[in-house]
Amino acid sequence: ALVHGDRFSAALNAIDGHDDVARICERLIEALSVPIELGSEALFPRINIGIALFPEDGDDFETLHQHALTALNQTGDKQSGYHWYQQERDAAARERIALERDLRYAVERGELRVFYQPRLDAHSGAVLGMEALVRWQRDGQMVSPAKFIPIAEQTGVINQLGEFVLERSVAMVAAWLKRGLPPLRVSVNVSGRQFRESDLPAQCSAALARHNLPAEYLELELTEGILIEASDNVLQQLHMLKDLGIQLALDDFGTGFSSLGYLSRFPLDVLKIDKSFVDKLADNEQNRVIVRSTLTLAHDLGLRVVAEGVETEAQRHWLVEHACDELQGYLFAKPLPPEEFEQWVLQRRNLSSPPLALASTVMTRNG
Ligand code: C2E
Ligand code: MG
Ligand code: MG
Repeated sequence: ALVHGDRFSAALNAIDGHDDVARICERLIEALSVPIELGSEALFPRINIGIALFPEDGDDFETLHQHALTALNQTGDKQSGYHWYQQERDAAARERIALERDLRYAVERGELRVFYQPRLDAHSGAVLGMEALVRWQRDGQMVSPAKFIPIAEQTGVINQLGEFVLERSVAMVAAWLKRGLPPLRVSVNVSGRQFRESDLPAQCSAALARHNLPAEYLELELTEGILIEASDNVLQQLHMLKDLGIQLALDDFGTGFSSLGYLSRFPLDVLKIDKSFVDKLADNEQNRVIVRSTLTLAHDLGLRVVAEGVETEAQRHWLVEHACDELQGYLFAKPLPPEEFEQWVLQRRNLSSPPLALASTVMTRNG
């Protein structure tokens, strides 16, 4: 039957498995691939076939037809040929569409949470701050940001998502400060699209003002992509953020171009060495030389260096030896929900305080 335009559908019965269908398709393609003569010209038709099988690809006509069309659309614009309906590919496409749709509502539905991963002073082990990392609780299941942040960026939802994370993080730090936790700086990841579409300096200063938090408690983590773009507009915003007193960090150093030029060209305060670099420390001397030089150069430029994804004692030891300033990683703590983060900080303070507490008792007894 003619479906529409240049598309036809055929239902085959009494077929005997895939081979049978393949043979029929080949014969069809051969039979239809005869040149059509138009005056002195000859047209060579291209024949593409999309196949859906009963019952594995559907058990009613509508579904089978739909899936055959899906398979046909997957053939691309190449030469003649036939294509089987691929359930996984279709499932992946549908999953993505559902993810996109749900993500749009996730912020409003309150399905996003912010977790916090501590950043420690490499030398003393004191907690200096934490990175805010967004989490999506979708139908009771945790979806990884690695999966939904790229979608949020492509669809523009990153603007609402980013504003939410910023607002939550600033509110949280202000609340912790009020509750007497040691002063902690929160670092919030921002994406390039936010620089283009949100007014980050205005958003930051509004959030800080709303919660009465000094700007030095806030840091933004940028990726190299944002700097590569380096439009005047981005540069201007970076300087505005700096002027507000907000700290700027370059995230994931070592994954992109890792251009050392960026370190001096932009008003950065912090360099975050990516986990992949930290992992490679153990491999060979060459990798250690790279990290060592990065540390030296960053320090010469007046930047603090944070190592991300520290998982082993050996990595910690090496990084401390080589004057890395701050450490972050599972060796200390995973990203934690706010209540657990608070507990973790309090516990750690108690753990590290005995010498101090002892000293103060001695002092009070004597004086
Ligand atoms: P990132 O900014 O580089 O964050 C560090 C990632 O490394 C986090 O993954 C963290 O959980 C993970 N990590 C930290 N220490 C360790 C470790 O010792 N071992 C291992 N295996 N992993 C460690 P997460 O939370 O899955 O986030 C992935 C990425 O998603 C982040 O990478 C960041 O680029 C992005 N992201 C997360 N939250 C936000 C957000 O609010 N806004 C934006 N724009 N991006 C975000
Ligand atoms: Mg980060
Ligand atoms: Mg990173």
